[in-house]
Amino acid sequence: KEEQVRHGSRLWEVGALSGMINHEFNNYLTPILIYGELILGETCVDPAIRENVAEMVQSAKRAAEMTKELASFTRKDSAGEKLVAVNVKEQLERSLRMVKKLLPANISLKKEISSEECYIKSGETMISQIILNLSTNAIYAMNDKQGRITVSAGLVEKSGGQMYGITFGDTGTGMSDEVKARIFDPFFTTKEEGAGTGLGLSVIKGLIEKADGTISVQSESDKGTVFTIELPLCQKEEQTSWFCRNGKKNGFK
Ligand code: ADP
Repeated sequence: KEEQVRHGSRLWEVGALSGMINHEFNNYLTPILIYGELILGETCVDPAIRENVAEMVQSAKRAAEMTKELASFTRKDSAGEKLVAVNVKEQLERSLRMVKKLLPANISLKKEISSEECYIKSGETMISQIILNLSTNAIYAMNDKQGRITVSAGLVEKSGGQMYGITFGDTGTGMSDEVKARIFDPFFTTKEEGAGTGLGLSVIKGLIEKADGTISVQSESDKGTVFTIELPLCQKEEQTSWFCRNGKKNGFK
């Protein structure tokens, strides 16, 4: 319990995660900016083409600015600790639409999301942070090979009542038992210098525990990895009378 409290208080890590997202987007934008500027530096470029390229560079600069703003917004939002009733299905669909647009051609996405509208009490951006983070790791684990991400979600029956379950699987490299034992530790990374901060999974674990949920992992070297997340449900209605399935009224901090 003490570990949980300590973990939850490491909110600055959320800021680091936003920084990472910012960093990743900028990795995609940088070639557009650099090659665009190079073309603009050429003297023999047709004026009509120059105009188009100038437009492209301008747009990439605006996108870079936007990701910076997004990062500071997420930081503020997550650190503010405000827990709200979140429609999980809606947020999952929205996040996966975004992931689909960013997926490299070698990776397919399969989703099975049940039709019930379920609410959980969590930070407003938690679901999108989970999906973005697990997707980033899955893409990395696929190592440029053909692969598939499978996401399924819906109600699951547990001994204490119903929970909302999300499983997120990939067909990537998987991990050894030694790696698996440490993945939720802050700053643990096996990625090369500059590719990872080692904060992604520890941050989302902190957010999930704040929502009274759990995250666990199954993984096998060369086969792939499956993350399982379980979150307690809450009612959609007004904020003062949350009632969770485990019977705790106003049970959230
Ligand atoms: P980072 O991505 O910056 O390394 P994370 O906390 O997100 O930080 O992940 C920690 C480590 O867990 C990764 O470096 C990697 O070794 C391992 N890992 C996470 N997700 C996967 C996955 N889907 N497949 C294989 N290894 C993974």
